[in-house]
Amino acid sequence: MRFTCPVDGALKRSPRMVNAFRFPEDLRETFDLLEWRLNCVVCPACKEATAILTLVIILDKDGKTALLVGPEGVSLEHAQVAQLEANGYRLEKVTDYDALRLKVIARLDRYLKPVCPVILPPEDAPLSRFRVH
Ligand SMILES: [Zn+2]
Repeated sequence: MRFTCPVDGALKRSPRMVNAFRFPEDLRETFDLLEWRLNCVVCPACKEATAILTLVIILDKDGKTALLVGPEGVSLEHAQVAQLEANGYRLEKVTDYDALRLKVIARLDRYLKPVCPVILPPEDAPLSRFRVH
C-alpha cells in the first residue's frame, strides 16, 4: 500500500498497520499509542509524522472492555461484536487515536503500584533499630 505525504506529496510505503492488541500485555503497541506513534508513518523527505486512522481494537481483559476506534462508517462485523459480548466484553467506541489514548491512560493506574509511605515511629517508641543512643 502506498501513502502520500500530506505536506509535500512524497510517496512512500504505508507502515505495517496495527489493528488489534491487548492492553497492557502488548507493551510495544500500548506505548506506541501513548507516545502518538500508533499507525504513524514518517515521511522520509520532510520527516512529518502522519497517523493513519484505521480500525483498531484494544482488548482490556482486566477491565472487560473492548476499546474500538476507526474511521467513520467502519466498524466490526456483527459476528465479531457478538463474540466479544459473549466473552463478557463491553464495547467502547471512540473517534480518534487521541480519545483512545486517554481511555488507555485512565486504565494505567490499575497497574501502577504506589510506594508505601514510611511512617516514622515517635521519639519514645520502645523499639527502633535506627535510634542512636
Ligand atoms: Zn513529506
